Amino acid sequence: MVKTFQAYLSNCHRTYSCIHCRAHLANHDELISKSFQGSQGRAYLFNSVVNVGCGPAEERVLLTGLHAVADIYCECCKTTLGWKYLIVVYHCCCGYLSFEKL
Ligand SMILES: [Zn+2]
Repeated sequence: MVKTFQAYLSNCHRTYSCIHCRAHLANHDELISKSFQGSQGRAYLFNSVVNVGCGPAEERVLLTGLHAVADIYCECCKTTLGWKYLIVVYHCCCGYLSFEKL
């Protein structure tokens, strides 16, 4: 059985958590924009997050055009959180992250 460890962010900063299991997801310092537009309305755009896994990459037409994206989910409770842009440079796990459901 694989035990997954949950990452904890510093308490001295405002943090964003999973709506279901309260796992820490992102530091307020990593928030790039609160007025980003996702496919279902306003979304939060973060520079980096923790405790998040990503699904398979796919091309999706967004408001700003065609982008390579992947759905992201909470690694602790598997709730889908939103999606992230994939910047295909050397590997698939870098890029901006967007939470549409926070
Ligand atoms: Zn969760």
